[in-house]
Amino acid sequence: MSTLYSNLKFLRYADHIEALRQGRVVAPVHVRIKPINRCNHACWYCAYRADDLQLGQEMDLGDVIPDDKMFEITEDLIAMRVKAVTFSGGGEPLLYKPLPRVVERLGAAGIRVASLTNGSNLRGDMAEAFARWGTWVRVSLDSWDDASYAKARGIASGQFSRLLDNMRAFVARKSRCVLGVSFIIGRDNCAHVYEICALLKAVGVNHVKLSGAVVANDLHANNLYHREIMPLVGEQIRRAQADLADETFAVLDHYHELDELFAKSYSTCPFLQFLTVIGADCAVYSCQDKAYTADGRLGSIRDRRFRDFWFSEENRARLYGLDPSRVCGHHCVTHGKNLALNEVLALDPDHACFV
Ligand code: SF4
Repeated sequence: MSTLYSNLKFLRYADHIEALRQGRVVAPVHVRIKPINRCNHACWYCAYRADDLQLGQEMDLGDVIPDDKMFEITEDLIAMRVKAVTFSGGGEPLLYKPLPRVVERLGAAGIRVASLTNGSNLRGDMAEAFARWGTWVRVSLDSWDDASYAKARGIASGQFSRLLDNMRAFVARKSRCVLGVSFIIGRDNCAHVYEICALLKAVGVNHVKLSGAVVANDLHANNLYHREIMPLVGEQIRRAQADLADETFAVLDHYHELDELFAKSYSTCPFLQFLTVIGADCAVYSCQDKAYTADGRLGSIRDRRFRDFWFSEENRARLYGLDPSRVCGHHCVTHGKNLALNEVLALDPDHACFV
């Protein structure tokens, strides 16, 4: 099985590193779009809805990208030669009705398309569009049966069984679109990790990625929360990898203590030109960790095209002016990549060739 996950993907885009060196703005490699803020589930750990987490401070649950705006954005992404688009929340992206047509337009133009989803609407036209044009779909999960699923998400019983049916039907399409599961581990489900891995293998998904719930903006509070369940979880992950992993199914262990220093030592975020986020409020944000926050807001595209905004002087000033040491004192998925990029950008050119 080739590798799907890596923190080094950005190394394939040397032009972007050169642009950063020269202070230029280039089209992002990857754009995340949050088409709708409404969600039909209420997960207890959702970073957009938990009061004490960083995300979503300025999120309006009623926001949705108007259809015509979405198709305008779609044409801009194609014209800008963006390589990949991921649909994600805010809300549940597969509740956005025009999405099958958007996915088809992007896919037919050669852009790789993916979605994070709760999987409840991965059926009908939506499933057909992703099966035909998608590169991957990743279902978020935290439960092991109908009762635990209903409790974790504040929904009616029976939905877990329906989700498994949706995933089985998607697998049966035998498409090239990789169906994975992101399983979020907390104290309620920590004894069921092996069980869910075995169940997901039987369903036919390609892989399960196991991660810890982020429960606070504070590093030590997160680590303390997970420390007491870590031996139990670790034993099950090792057993699942030994018993279940094969050429059709992978168990990806992303469950570990957070060791990043939340305080940032660097004053620019070079990764902003690799990945950007468009919110359901028609604003562009720096990244998924600062979506719907004032500090992460790059600018609005409500009354102008995305490509006009992206290449504007206003955006250039924001991209090079956002100072993580001042405004990003929280968990950041990009931290390791920023450390690497800042080190590369600081290299003395006379010495950089002594590899
Ligand atoms: S440092 Fe991290 S959290 Fe801050 S803007 Fe960059 S990617 Fe986002």
